Amino acid sequence: MKVYKFGGASVRNAEGVRNLQHIVEGEENLFIVVSAMGKTTNALERVFTHLQKAEKAEAHAEIDALVAYHYDIINPLWGEEHPIEEVDALFAELREIVDKTVYRSQDAELWYDRVVAYGELISTTIISKYLKHSGIRNRWIDMRECFVTSARHKDANVDIKASKLKLRAALENTGVTVFVGQGFIGATPDGEVTTLGREGSDYSAAVVANIMQAESMSVWKDVDGVLNADPKLFKDAVKIDSLNYLDTIELAYSGAQIIHPKTIKPLQNKNIPLYVRPFGDKTKPGTVINGEAERVKLPIMIYKRQQVFLIIRAKDFSFVMEEKFGEVFSLLERYRIKTHLIHNSAVDLGLCVDASWHIEELQKALEEEDFEVERYDDVALLTIRNYTDELYSKYIKRHNHIVRQVNPESVRVVMHDGELV
Ligand code: ASP
Ligand code: MG
Repeated sequence: MKVYKFGGASVRNAEGVRNLQHIVEGEENLFIVVSAMGKTTNALERVFTHLQKAEKAEAHAEIDALVAYHYDIINPLWGEEHPIEEVDALFAELREIVDKTVYRSQDAELWYDRVVAYGELISTTIISKYLKHSGIRNRWIDMRECFVTSARHKDANVDIKASKLKLRAALENTGVTVFVGQGFIGATPDGEVTTLGREGSDYSAAVVANIMQAESMSVWKDVDGVLNADPKLFKDAVKIDSLNYLDTIELAYSGAQIIHPKTIKPLQNKNIPLYVRPFGDKTKPGTVINGEAERVKLPIMIYKRQQVFLIIRAKDFSFVMEEKFGEVFSLLERYRIKTHLIHNSAVDLGLCVDASWHIEELQKALEEEDFEVERYDDVALLTIRNYTDELYSKYIKRHNHIVRQVNPESVRVVMHDGELV
């Protein structure tokens, strides 16, 4: 079996869905993983924010726009007004959540998942039906019934062992060999829907590939393959032909938007190659990621936004690394805040972390534990691997950075966002 993953950008309009159909046409033994269409997940996050603030009318207005957006894709595909009962039912469920939820902040992540999961449920319903309509027999797979995940809402992990039997059973005796399943979602053992972290559809596809012992996984994207920098931020970005698993994890972890960081492990464990391929041209080779590729020598630039920099110091000046490190990190874990860079002196611990919803709570908890916290909002983390003198003087030297860490092969700086671009 092969696994193909299509991201939101590749199915953002009717043309994209038709293109998907061209790519999968003629294939057998194929599992297709699809994300929510276009920017649907962002819109659903706004629905959730309105739900948090009890702004029902605003939430419904967002849903109205989503209904219109999806029918602007559906109708041209069928060439006529084409109401789809299942899609309407999914939107109706979503509206019911908006109307009936009594929101409590301790359940934020749980309700987030309930709302945001609709993007993929809707996109896959449309795509499965459209493929059938164009003669490709396939089965819609409900990943909530196949992926058993941890209960860590908004960032759940798939329990591969527990999911194996379920996924395999769902694909057996179906009379078809092409399957369409949602990226990004699963469910806890109790059946509560979960999401796997933003951009998590890559990870979903990798888990399917692992369980089904796929011969390969391909991610179809609107770029030629993996580039050494985001072309929107750095011109002169070039394509990398091959990458090994380890480099890929490092890059993804530093914020390169190639692939979700959790994607690699399930593939590596079964030595399954991952192809990142251009959506617009099936004949182009893209980038291959596997166990054998050499380390990359090209400079690689990664700019991670939406960060916060915290400087934490114990009020009694105790040595933070020796005496307080564990305390700080268990608070970060409690509020589920991810750290991307650590910078320490004897008494200060500098942390570059995601700008999470819980940052205020973390700060308060730290202050209650007798830490002083200095906080910089709206910062970004720039990483350059294999930097050259030229890149160093262009991007690193001239900036007024909050922190700079220089190693022989990589440099990382925390800067005010917006300074670079
Ligand atoms: N739709 C989800 C997101 O936008 C998952 C994904 O695209 O991989 O984050
Ligand atoms: Mg996406």
